[in-house]
Amino acid sequence: MELSAGRMRKTILMIDDDADQREITRKILGAHGYQFAEADSCEEGLKFTLQYQPHLVLLDYLMPGMTGADFLHELTSNPHYKAVSETPVIMLTARTRNEVNQARLFQMGLRMYLEKPFNSHELINVIENVFALNDMRQRNRELEQRIKLTEYKYQDIIENANDLIFTLNAAGEFVFINRRLSVLTGYLREEWKDRPLLDIVLPEDRSTVEVNFKNTLKGKSRIFEMRIPGHNGRVLYLSTNINPILEHGEVTGCVGIARDVTQRKKLEQEITDLKNFNESVIQSIGSGLITLDLEKRITSFNQAAEEILGWRANEVIGLYLEEALPPEEVQRLLPQTEWRDAKDSSLLHREMEITRKDRKRIHVGYTVSSRRDNRNQHVGTIISFRDISQIKQMQAEVLRMDRLASLGVLASGIAHEIRNPLAGIKTVAQTLEEDLEEGDGKREYLARIIRQVNRMDELLRTLFSYARPQSPVRRPYKLQDIINEVKGLMLQRFERANIRFEEIYAEDLPLVLVDFHQTQQVFINLFLNAIDAMSGGGSLTIHARPVTKPPSRGDRRGKRFHEPQRNGRFAEVRVSDTGEGIPRENMQAIFDPFFTTKPQGSGLGLSIVYRIIEEHRGHIHVESEPGKGTTFSLFLPVEE
Ligand code: ADP
Repeated sequence: MELSAGRMRKTILMIDDDADQREITRKILGAHGYQFAEADSCEEGLKFTLQYQPHLVLLDYLMPGMTGADFLHELTSNPHYKAVSETPVIMLTARTRNEVNQARLFQMGLRMYLEKPFNSHELINVIENVFALNDMRQRNRELEQRIKLTEYKYQDIIENANDLIFTLNAAGEFVFINRRLSVLTGYLREEWKDRPLLDIVLPEDRSTVEVNFKNTLKGKSRIFEMRIPGHNGRVLYLSTNINPILEHGEVTGCVGIARDVTQRKKLEQEITDLKNFNESVIQSIGSGLITLDLEKRITSFNQAAEEILGWRANEVIGLYLEEALPPEEVQRLLPQTEWRDAKDSSLLHREMEITRKDRKRIHVGYTVSSRRDNRNQHVGTIISFRDISQIKQMQAEVLRMDRLASLGVLASGIAHEIRNPLAGIKTVAQTLEEDLEEGDGKREYLARIIRQVNRMDELLRTLFSYARPQSPVRRPYKLQDIINEVKGLMLQRFERANIRFEEIYAEDLPLVLVDFHQTQQVFINLFLNAIDAMSGGGSLTIHARPVTKPPSRGDRRGKRFHEPQRNGRFAEVRVSDTGEGIPRENMQAIFDPFFTTKPQGSGLGLSIVYRIIEEHRGHIHVESEPGKGTTFSLFLPVEE
């Protein structure tokens, strides 16, 4: 037997004891391009099959010795022929099929039956069918193999996946669970099976899971987060994706993939905590804080900044700084040079006046520094500032006190020097007056000289007492007693000026701890000024009540600038008139010595009041509205 070179021809082995039949068949097969081999007995046939490994065997059923059935049995069940046991066999027989136990033959692996006599057509047809079937079988087997392999592969992937993979039926109960799920939760797989997914979700998350599951049953895929208890009480955060499982267009359940994001959640939580912490620190510090990006757009604006500048954060975040502050102020505020390296981010400390949203101008002390990212690149600016208007005001007051003190020294010197010669003048004038006759018209001149000298002396005495203030001798008094005394001196003037005098005292007003005479002096000066201010009549009201704290100076905007050392109990005495009021531009000056708006005024009254109150460690505060009236509030120390 030979194989022609080149194209692989299929070999067919015919086993038949009939030589004519073999000859005919050889011709037919040869004509159709098959290689032909022959054997005249089953014994030889088995040998050749093993030797030539033919693609097909044509086997006669009835032969002397071994029958076709015996051949088949040997071929398919004897391990000796294992290598060729799959060779397709076509049985040729002259007998009708009924006489042969066909079923048994097919069980043994017979592929096809062909009854003799057959024509060439029938033979080739059957052979080709068997080859085609064989090919198909072969391919099927390979396919099966391949499917099995892929199945294994997928099963392996699913089983050992890092994600949790599960399927649920339409009732939301577990059907399949991969290993990861039981590893993470510590529950055995059997314990999961048939349990509803909802059972294992933390109660707080159940409604979320339910809504998402229901949506999946409607054919949508869903992503959501849920928490389940892990073993040893840990809570696991699962980022879950569920997709519907469709069978014949109907949703029969869903497949879910869940990723354990507990670690990420923890980090997220830590970041949020840190952010909240930073935010609360920034919000709670007393200084105003504004951050800007590189284009000078406002990126944050804390609570203190809101209070100091009068803008709400949500009004200004995103605006350019120039839109919240006048451009010339921005120019002063920010450094004109670019920030280059880390050394440049040294703070700039300065003071300036700045305009609030309500156009009021306030003094701020501020520092500007560079905001840097983790690579130390300049990415913006941080401005931190405080309202120092009150500090400025206090500085001004200290200055005023200084001025008063040095003026005091000067005044006391002058007063002393002038009072002596004045006394001389007065003595001479009095002597001259006595020398003149009763009816002498010149006596009137001398009387006038003496009156003017007296007035000058009075003025000098005031100046002197101002310059050399006696330290107050403080004793507890009823405020009403002091006012009564003053009222006695003033009543006539009140009547003349058509002024109503009213007093309101709180019942629980404690005794005031003051120098009686100096306090009297205070009220006399205040009342005289009130009378001057109400030329057309009006009312003067005393309103006294106990308070625990003096007000902070100026307005209440900068809440953080209380003066703690002076807190305590006080009697607040408000002296209000309904007079002409004090123009805004004079407010700063009224306590200055010699500041007066009156032709005959000395300008010393209020500066003495101020000084006496300071000596008492009290406070004085003035509010006035031109045309409506003025209120002086005194805070006098009380008996503890
Ligand atoms: P004088 O009364 O001699 O002018 P003061 O020091 O007592 O000096 O007062 C200074 C100035 O303050 C007054 O000239 C007046 O302009 C203003 N003033 C003080 N008290 C009042 C008041 N009750 N109403 C209006 N203006 C006042």
